[in-house]
Amino acid sequence: MNIENNKVVSFHYTLTNEKGETVESSRDREPMAYLHGAGNIIPGLEKALVGKMTGDQFEVTVQPNEAYGERKENGVQRIPAKHFKQAHSLQKGQRLVLQTKQGPVQVTVVKVGRFNIDVDTNHPLAGQALTFDVEVTEVRDATAEEISHGHVHGPGGAHH
Ligand code: ZN
Repeated sequence: MNIENNKVVSFHYTLTNEKGETVESSRDREPMAYLHGAGNIIPGLEKALVGKMTGDQFEVTVQPNEAYGERKENGVQRIPAKHFKQAHSLQKGQRLVLQTKQGPVQVTVVKVGRFNIDVDTNHPLAGQALTFDVEVTEVRDATAEEISHGHVHGPGGAHH
């Protein structure tokens, strides 16, 4: 069975950045599962999986515009420390979720000052070409319910 829209695909992957450092890997846990064609994973990786089948192994390098986007230079923002619950215990590099008028935004702390905290709203992998080493472990038809929800149910997916 080949990968196309409305298939549920399970795969193992190892993700490396431009420096060749391993960013994350599914090898120490269960494979990642996604619904193909639903935009569950980054576009460049989804494209590379089209037509593949169980057992296929391949490597693909995805440019930022098909991964997490380019870095925005104005993505770093200075926020008064009083807006943080425990500003004094924040550390550089720490990831946290800020509640904003536009909803929750995940940020990275870049500088902790006495009165202000600088945070970077860019995704940590923005602006980077990413290399995925992929092994497809399962391809199956999605259920009607999965297609209507736009995501996978069961192992590797949503439980609800
Ligand atoms: Zn669901």
